Amino acid sequence: MGWFREWRRRRVLKYRAIVPEAWFAATASMPVLQGLSAEERERLRGLATLFLSEKSLEPVQGLELTEEMALIVAAQAVLPILNLGIDSYDQWYSLVLYPDEFITRREWTDEHGLVHARRDILSGEAWGRGPMVLSWADVAEAPVIDGYNPVIHECAHKLDLLNGDANGMPPLHAGMNARAWREVFEAAYEDLCRRADAGLQTAVDPYATESPAECFAVMSEHFFETPHALRAAYPEVYAQLALFYRQSPVTRIAV
Ligand SMILES: [Zn+2]
Repeated sequence: MGWFREWRRRRVLKYRAIVPEAWFAATASMPVLQGLSAEERERLRGLATLFLSEKSLEPVQGLELTEEMALIVAAQAVLPILNLGIDSYDQWYSLVLYPDEFITRREWTDEHGLVHARRDILSGEAWGRGPMVLSWADVAEAPVIDGYNPVIHECAHKLDLLNGDANGMPPLHAGMNARAWREVFEAAYEDLCRRADAGLQTAVDPYATESPAECFAVMSEHFFETPHALRAAYPEVYAQLALFYRQSPVTRIAV
C-alpha cells in the first residue's frame, strides 16, 4: 500500500495542488505563519494540499464552507507537521466543523453503577481514531497571536493519540529521551497547578492543568503562537517541543 499512497500523493501534488494565489490570499496575513521561509511556505502548501485531499471537511449545522475557510483550517493544521510529514495524521479522516462552540453530552457509569451525565461547551475535540471537531468561530479567530489556537490544540491531541491514549506522551523521535520529556512536563504541570491553585497568573492558559494531555496540547499552542513567552517561562518544555516538532518558532516569530 505504501507505494500506491506515495504515487497517489505525487499525482495530487502535481495535478491538484492548491493554487498559489488562493493559498497566498488565505495565508499571507496569518501571524502564526510569519517568518516562515519561502521554501517552508511552499512545503506547507504541499502539506495543506495533501491534507485537504485526504481529510474530509464536514461542515454541520448550516455552516457554509468556502475554499478560503478550508485553506485557513488546513494551513494551521499542517503547521505542526511541517517537519513531521502528512503520515502523522494517517489515523484519522474526518474534520467536523461547527459554526460556533458546540455542546457535547457525555454519560458514564461510576463504580457504584450510577450513571452520570455532563454537558460541556467546547471549541474543539479530538477522539482516538474518530473525527476532529472544531468550531469555525474559534478557528477564524485563531490566526491572531494570543497563545490560543484550537486547530493546533486538537492536532497536538491527534499526535499524542498516535501511540495509544492521549496522555501527554506522544511517540518521541529517535534520540529523544522519554524520561527527560516526562520530567520536564511533570515539573511544568505541577508548577502550573500550584500557580492556578494560588490564584496567580500563569504563563500559559490554565486549561493546561486539566490533565497531562491538555498540558501537552496547550503547551503546543503556545509553542507555535507565543514561543518567546513559553521559552521564558518553561525553557525545557520549549526545548522538548522543538525536538518533537522539529522546528523552533522563536527564530521566526517576533517577540
Ligand atoms: Zn484538549
